Amino acid sequence: MQVLKAQDMGMCFGVRDALTKTQTISNPVQVTVFGQLVHNPVVRERLAARGFGMLEESQRGHLPDSTHVLVTAHGISEKTRTALLAAGKQLIDTTCPLVKKAHAAAQRLQEQGCHVIVIGTPGHVEVNGIVEDLTSFTIAENPAAVQTYPFTKLGILCQTTTPTAVAAAVRAKVAELNPQAHIQFIDTVCQPTKDRQTALEELLSQVQAMVVVGGHNSNNTRRLVDRCRQRGIPAYHVQCAAELQPQWFEGVQIVGLTAGTSTLPETIDAVYHALSTITRSPMVQPLVSPPACRWRKKINPRSQARYAATALEPPFQQTAPRDSGGPTVRNCLPYCVKYLQ
Ligand code: SF4
Repeated sequence: MQVLKAQDMGMCFGVRDALTKTQTISNPVQVTVFGQLVHNPVVRERLAARGFGMLEESQRGHLPDSTHVLVTAHGISEKTRTALLAAGKQLIDTTCPLVKKAHAAAQRLQEQGCHVIVIGTPGHVEVNGIVEDLTSFTIAENPAAVQTYPFTKLGILCQTTTPTAVAAAVRAKVAELNPQAHIQFIDTVCQPTKDRQTALEELLSQVQAMVVVGGHNSNNTRRLVDRCRQRGIPAYHVQCAAELQPQWFEGVQIVGLTAGTSTLPETIDAVYHALSTITRSPMVQPLVSPPACRWRKKINPRSQARYAATALEPPFQQTAPRDSGGPTVRNCLPYCVKYLQ
């Protein structure tokens, strides 16, 4: 049983720099974080514990009471920046430079007279920050969202965490449905995202299941999970080690591990160690698998019904006598009867 780590995973430089900047702030009670600094609940809890004020992403339209506002790695629109400055707020800007590059690309396309198509997740803060400064735009999350647009010039860019395959598919669909238009494409998918996607592709050909670590609201983490499932590999999205469930790994000999760009290194380490512990347990490596076990017997209908409420297969109960030379009840207990007690 092995746990294979992706060559590239976890925290990117944009998130790391944003976190480093918060550590230099001497009086956090005067600062409101304008949304989630990064989509990571552990980071959020630590910032709150230090006294930072927090504004939910859905409340970004409101002005915080604090004198200082910390702009997150996802960035904000120029409109919002102007409103905050006009209200006398001092900004601590942790916008990732690669997000700024996406903003600049959108503005360039707009100045050239294009209707701007942003490939990304509608409602995501990064996408909101880009489109709030545009007058003519469409957000397309996937090829199915693409339409024929009544414009002769179309400009396409991407949310920084878009899978490159999705970007290529949307771009092709725009061209197919808009043969009348002159189309420009600016690739604004960031390099750390590309590196993590490439590393995942390499890993997927070697594993039977994947664990993806990251915030449940982290777009790039969810994209990694989606990709695993598209390739037919069971993928489990966890925020921390405590969310791992041993029964996910029954029969799995090689499990892969990757993480989104906002995941802390210590969280990845904790998941890795928990995973290593799980994969050494009899739950995952039964001495005899239930279908092959000659001591098995069919469980009674009442227990079967209870078993059906779990993800475990198959519905057999281990009954090897202690002196039979077969697997002991202790060995098989977690595997076969844990959910029947
Ligand atoms: S995922 Fe990319 S764009 Fe976002 S913070 Fe990290 S490096 Fe920057």
